Amino acid sequence: MVAVAALPVRVSAATKLNTGMEQKIDKIMSRMSLDEKVGQMAEMAIDILGHWQGDEFVLDKDKVEKVIDQYKVGSILNAPGHTLTPENWNTIISTLNKHSMKTMGIPCIYGLDQNHGATYTLGGTLFPQNINMGASFNPELVRKAAGITAYETRAADCPWTYSPTLDLSRDPRWPRVWENYGEDCLVNAVMGRAAILGFQGEDFNHIDQNHIAACMKHFMGYSVPRTGQDRTPAYIPEFELREKFFAPYAAGVAAGALSIMVNSASVNGIPMHVNHKYLTDWLKNEKRFDGVIVTDWNDINNLYTREMVAKDKKEAIAMAINAGIDMSMEPYDLNFCTLLKEDVEEGKVPVSRIDDAVRRILRMKFRLGLFDHPDTQMKKYPKFGCAEFAKASEDAAIETMVLLKNDKNVLPLDKNIRVLVTGPNANTLRPLDGGWSYTWQGDADKFARNCNTILGALQKKLGNDHVIYEPGVTYKMDGKYWEENTPEIDKAVAAAKDADVIIACIGENSYTETPGNLKDLALSENQRDLVKALAKTGKRIILLLNEGRPRIIADIEPYASAVVDMLIPGEHGSDAVARLLTGEDNFSARMPYTYPRYSASLTNYDYRASEEAGTMEGAYDYNAQVDVQWPFGYGMSYTTFRYDNMTVNKSDFDINDSICVRVNVTNTGSRAGKESVLLFSREQVASMVPEVRRLRAFTKISLEPGESKEVALAIPAKDLAFVGQDGKWHLEQGKFMLQVGDKIVWINCRKTTVF
Ligand code: BGC
Repeated sequence: MVAVAALPVRVSAATKLNTGMEQKIDKIMSRMSLDEKVGQMAEMAIDILGHWQGDEFVLDKDKVEKVIDQYKVGSILNAPGHTLTPENWNTIISTLNKHSMKTMGIPCIYGLDQNHGATYTLGGTLFPQNINMGASFNPELVRKAAGITAYETRAADCPWTYSPTLDLSRDPRWPRVWENYGEDCLVNAVMGRAAILGFQGEDFNHIDQNHIAACMKHFMGYSVPRTGQDRTPAYIPEFELREKFFAPYAAGVAAGALSIMVNSASVNGIPMHVNHKYLTDWLKNEKRFDGVIVTDWNDINNLYTREMVAKDKKEAIAMAINAGIDMSMEPYDLNFCTLLKEDVEEGKVPVSRIDDAVRRILRMKFRLGLFDHPDTQMKKYPKFGCAEFAKASEDAAIETMVLLKNDKNVLPLDKNIRVLVTGPNANTLRPLDGGWSYTWQGDADKFARNCNTILGALQKKLGNDHVIYEPGVTYKMDGKYWEENTPEIDKAVAAAKDADVIIACIGENSYTETPGNLKDLALSENQRDLVKALAKTGKRIILLLNEGRPRIIADIEPYASAVVDMLIPGEHGSDAVARLLTGEDNFSARMPYTYPRYSASLTNYDYRASEEAGTMEGAYDYNAQVDVQWPFGYGMSYTTFRYDNMTVNKSDFDINDSICVRVNVTNTGSRAGKESVLLFSREQVASMVPEVRRLRAFTKISLEPGESKEVALAIPAKDLAFVGQDGKWHLEQGKFMLQVGDKIVWINCRKTTVF
């Protein structure tokens, strides 16, 4: 039997302060000048501190003296354009620390977007992007990947990553869909917690030199801009903010995350960077978050240049700091320090707020042990970039790619057949790694070492004689992410003559943030034309989708015998997909979001019943349809599973009960496989329109052919509550349907409770 407790998403437990540490902070703060304090609250980009000398980035002494010695800046971030070797990082970061320790006795904290592994530490390991990790439904993979990332980040002397990303991918148009764990808040909460523990280790008060500080981002509501475009306003009812968007952050605070980064955009008309209610009341006061709240890139400046809520920089600084911001990712303007000091001297920002922010920043530095050991030594990290870590990434990728269609068991491929490998994603590493890979927009082709493209991995697996390559469509690698060269579809069609099966590697090139905005959710016309032309050959087509968000393929999907959504599986994902296509391994991932069928028919899995109503009788033709290509949670395997004997420990329950669902799962096929077991609930009638389903718990099990296991999924009854218009949680009397696989059980809540 497997017993699994669901993660309590609404935990209000706070991190625990360490008295000895707080006393040390008191002592340091008692001798700090106001200049030193505002300096601690500033974070600058590495670009203003040095220059490139060949392949190495070198600090300029006069610039370091200005930023650290004179302005007392407490934090530096980012890579100067692209990734650096760990040795180069060591030199840079230790030099900054030397200056900082000498002038103030306080270490400098360096931060990097090590978002899916070693983004900026050359030679390190890159993992599948978070959207893939969400599709795995396996938090252990997330924890392991984060642990390796922490080790490789610290090897390069960097103690802080801007990860995990916990936005909810609920709008497929948004260019950062792939940076978080999917559309569901529980999945993001569970995976976020696993990432935080992987990065920070077990004891967030004493983080050792193999671990780093996590930074949850982007708090909150960033992912559903009304326009679909990056960093534009979102409008989210507060009950939904509280119930869904806040949930992963609340779980992350309970897991001890040391820092949080803020959403660059506005929500309900107020830029998140000036929202006292959410930053201070919800996070710091209610959840007792005792870590650091850092802005996103340039966001205090955006308050007066873009959002137009402040008349100038000085006012913007006061608004943000008073709302609860502790550190400003400026990232270029040292004037922040001067203006914040003036704000304090003019009484616009209370000294108590400055002291609170500085205390939080020093606490993070203490928790990381930076006062005692500001730097690490590369020689103590012999496993940096080792084969074992690359294998961990490849094995993770196996569990993150979703089999969506497999007509007449075209997969697994017989190793003796000849395949045509085609499409713009076939022979490049860039889309496999996605954005935040060596550079901001992703440039794996330039920097990745010893990795196969999909073409290379298939040649290795099937033998060169069995693989024909003709791309038909290619990306313009020096252009925008969506630009393609003049297609050569005829060449691909001609090459198909000698193949038994066509593997069309299609999707998107790499991107992130604003450069990844799109105008049309449909997959590129060239790529769809390629598939349509190839379909005329009559050969079987396998679509390998390698894309950061669900691009619409409704017009070509019917031509495919099989479809695999690789999402963005990382640079070892090519070897993983070759293992899956040839049947060496089995598929076990499930869709982390709803894959739409039509551009104007967008929804999420937890929609309301009226979105799916049949036609009414009478004069009016009220109806609505949910018509998706593939639903959230959908995914196939080479084997089959049967669910039976579903039971629940309580048929009637109250707020304080724990509900435990048990079900037997049997592998009824002829191959070993892993199965994600998902528990959904549905409230029959409620005072606010109930959702048709909500994910309440999940786990993943392995089963040999013929093997059965009993799975237990336990949730506190209060997890079945929803947030009402009053902002409170309501567990209402009445019936709830629980569903696991194709089995359902109804249970009854005896009494309404509001809490
Ligand atoms: C992104 C963040 C990132 C930060 C620092 C911003 O543009 O939105 O996700 O952590 O830059 O690089």
